[in-house]
Amino acid sequence: MTLLTARALTVAIGTRQVVGPLDLDVRAGEVVGLVGPNGAGKSTLMRALAGLAPHGGEIRLDGAPLARLAPGARARRVAHVAQAREIAWGLTVEEVVDLGRLPHRPRFAPRSAADARAVAEAIAAMDLAPLAHRRATELSGGETARVVVARALAQEAALLVADEPTAGLDPAHQIALMRVFRRMASQGGAVVVSLHELGLAARFCDRVILLDAGGIVADASPDDALSPERLAAVYGVTAHVSRDPDGLVLMPTGLVDEREVRP
Ligand code: ADP
Ligand code: MG
Repeated sequence: MTLLTARALTVAIGTRQVVGPLDLDVRAGEVVGLVGPNGAGKSTLMRALAGLAPHGGEIRLDGAPLARLAPGARARRVAHVAQAREIAWGLTVEEVVDLGRLPHRPRFAPRSAADARAVAEAIAAMDLAPLAHRRATELSGGETARVVVARALAQEAALLVADEPTAGLDPAHQIALMRVFRRMASQGGAVVVSLHELGLAARFCDRVILLDAGGIVADASPDDALSPERLAAVYGVTAHVSRDPDGLVLMPTGLVDEREVRP
């Protein structure tokens, strides 16, 4: 089942078109990695996919034009984790995660049992139980990042669009988060996740979209999209690629320019 389709999608910031035109599909059951150099347009594309930035062309969620969905209906279908993780208010971690339930709650209604369950599951998934009653403004960068992801998980939208959610996480929490995404996909949802850790993209994504200067350079399996030739062309890096029983192992190793000047 296709959760999201984008056709002739363009996104502008001011008068400058920074993304597209491009086509993409996201199907239930897949974790799609979005990779590309700084400024490629990943965040801009993801904001548009989540209905948070105006777009040209067409985006459909479950067949319905995204531009015509009311904010509440949209938020029940797609959750967004922004790259900037500012938590402005003096709420506890649990209260911040509960904000993810607002699209499900009639105004002024108390928390339902479903809300409590979703919040508890999101807190557990992000390993936040020990921090649940701490003020969310008094956490480390990586802890804050996990709170922001937990809020989006609590939203229980079929599609999660997460912008560099692994940035600042320690390796154990990075791997655990990618596994949470895999579990969402195995339960019929889908995740679009932008990543600079190409090793995580290679190992945990079903498909990788490589974006450069606002356009799709590759939309393919990780070993195809992240081939050494493409990484050299788009990022200017050399990479070590191998395989172990659990999948691809990819590590950027150097700069193409540096290789050229070495004797
Ligand atoms: P990425 O997430 O891949 O690093 P972005 O989507 O943030 O890229 O940015 C895409 C392009 O849009 C870049 O050229 C960037 O400089 C530009 N851009 C991003 N945010 C703004 C902004 N608020 N105003 C003007 N240009 C912006
Ligand atoms: Mg970005």
